[in-house]
Amino acid sequence: MLSPLSQRLHDRLLEIHADRPDLAAALDLQRNLLSRELELLEMFLAGGLPRLSLPGRYLATKLRDGIPALFSEPVPLPQHLLTLALRDFCGRLATGRTEASARAIQTAFDGPLPPAAVISACFGRDQTQVRALAQHASVAPDLLWLIAELTVAPLAHLLQRQLFEGASAAPGTPLAEAVAQWDRGFCPACGSWPALLEAGEAGHTLRCSFCALGWVMASYRCIYCGNDGESFLTARPDPEHPGRRLQFCGECGGYAKVLDLARPTEFPLVAIEDLASLDLDMMAIERQYGRPALPTITRRPARG
Ligand SMILES: [Zn+2]
Ligand SMILES: [Zn+2]
Repeated sequence: MLSPLSQRLHDRLLEIHADRPDLAAALDLQRNLLSRELELLEMFLAGGLPRLSLPGRYLATKLRDGIPALFSEPVPLPQHLLTLALRDFCGRLATGRTEASARAIQTAFDGPLPPAAVISACFGRDQTQVRALAQHASVAPDLLWLIAELTVAPLAHLLQRQLFEGASAAPGTPLAEAVAQWDRGFCPACGSWPALLEAGEAGHTLRCSFCALGWVMASYRCIYCGNDGESFLTARPDPEHPGRRLQFCGECGGYAKVLDLARPTEFPLVAIEDLASLDLDMMAIERQYGRPALPTITRRPARG
């Protein structure tokens, strides 16, 4: 018996496969990876989450200063469980195109590449540190980042829900107001860029690529640099599918995908919506646009 979320994952994979049979191999891999993510999600739900003692007023001040809620918080990570998951995802990716690189990472975990350091750096959204670790161990940095993100994303998702569902359940509190006023292109929970923008009647919902939180920006502008001039534009590259669009920014060279979706994208389905719209990425890359590295978040010096 599948859980409702696994059932939706399964159904959505079948729909995408019917539309895009050319993606069959990639969809099979996603099925394999995301079903493991769902297992981790259930394991954390059953076993309890790390306790966060982040008072609402403290978080509200942090958000008002433009700092994501989880940024630089010392979260006690369940390293044993995460290390098992990291090795397991690495094994699942030791196939096809990524086989040799994943095997090299697997070997490095027993030598110069400490799993706990990779997990902590990825949870802290420190891509530079993960790259440095990869370089030191002579393994593929992008694949290592992907494996680490798959491992820690379920936990980040649940922590994000713990913090933000509480805020939305208590309207009028400083935290709920600070969440509602968040008007930036990166995620207020974890600081990542969105994977995609979901078009809706109340504007575009930015959907975090890592923790799957959704939020809105108050105006039509580039999510990366804030450009709202003439060089920021939206294109409908395929007249037959007007619900699939691309935002291009001439200022920073960034692009973002805007999709009309039947329902908000739940964790961990963001990855398959991202995959199902891969043709849009290809179009943007052909036009020399890109997705920037993670935003650099700087904490202002404490006042007083
Ligand atoms: Zn996030
Ligand atoms: Zn821009």
